[in-house]
Amino acid sequence: MKTLIVNIVTPDGPVYDSEVDMIIAKTASGEIGILPGHIPMVAPLVIGAVKLKKDGKSEYVAVNGGFVEVRPEKVTILAQSAEVASNIDVTRAKEAVKRAEERLQHKQDSTDFNRAELALKRAMNRINVYEGNI
Ligand code: ATP
Repeated sequence: MKTLIVNIVTPDGPVYDSEVDMIIAKTASGEIGILPGHIPMVAPLVIGAVKLKKDGKSEYVAVNGGFVEVRPEKVTILAQSAEVASNIDVTRAKEAVKRAEERLQHKQDSTDFNRAELALKRAMNRINVYEGNI
């Protein structure tokens, strides 16, 4: 069976580099499933879990925005930040949820609201990936 090489890269360096059977990612226009041989495309990603399927098993990476570039044999994800489940500090993410919720309650303007809402989404995504709650 054909496989796909997947690279997930952030400004801090590479986060994931492996061969998989299938990738599922959340783009701005919806979820996409990518199999080997997919037509080339580039799409913006939203905050969400990227699912990587290999030999009937699934791994998840928490991804914060960026882009996915698809080529028939290789997928590159360039993200603002990304963490594989085993590298997620869940205590930190839970603290980030608390801070974001407080900021949402005491927001001064729409910029505060938008920033807190994004921080909340990033933290909830990390918690869900850590807990395998996808
Ligand atoms: P925090 O408020 O906890 O810093 P954040 O959402 O503002 O969270 P980011 O700006 O998205 O953090 O990420 C900054 C760096 O910290 C990135 O390298 C990211 O991978 C890492 N990071 C953030 N939160 C966690 C976490 N809970 N576990 C592991 N790494 C994390």
